[in-house]
Amino acid sequence: MQTETMGNCLACGQVLPEQHVELSLNRQCLHYAKQPDGQVRVELEIMAADVLYLFCPPCADAGCAAAMRHEGVAVNFPTGPVGVCGRCQAPVPMSAPHSAYERLDGSFYWQAGSGWHCQPSDSETLAVVCQRCLDDPHWPAAALAREQSQQDARCAALEKSKP
Ligand SMILES: [Zn+2]
Ligand SMILES: [Zn+2]
Repeated sequence: MQTETMGNCLACGQVLPEQHVELSLNRQCLHYAKQPDGQVRVELEIMAADVLYLFCPPCADAGCAAAMRHEGVAVNFPTGPVGVCGRCQAPVPMSAPHSAYERLDGSFYWQAGSGWHCQPSDSETLAVVCQRCLDDPHWPAAALAREQSQQDARCAALEKSKP
């Protein structure tokens, strides 16, 4: 029996369905490992993840765009080994620990005894942020990102692989 709910969509206020969208601030790091067949395998290590916004699917696209505007970070879908900071356009080496805004589409369900589970259907990095911006005292969102970066040392790793 479901005894918990995820809360409400931040855009329309409806109770969130099991299938919904989370926008999180992650502290993460990409590992590039060359395989014997010459392919490079990329593994994403997430050291910290804090959910900032929750949206129901119909509100997700507009909600994420509005949330990123609120954060003051441009959505630029960083790819490759060097991303571009969504605030100041500085290069962000993806193989070093960095902060990232991640959209996760999935099914979230509660199981008595073990808590929340997530069955992800899609995830996308919307933007990354450079260290200099994290050190900017005038950026409100940086407080959480700074806190996460201090947890780098005691990272409980959660790994997933990307093709
Ligand atoms: Zn909604
Ligand atoms: Zn920056």
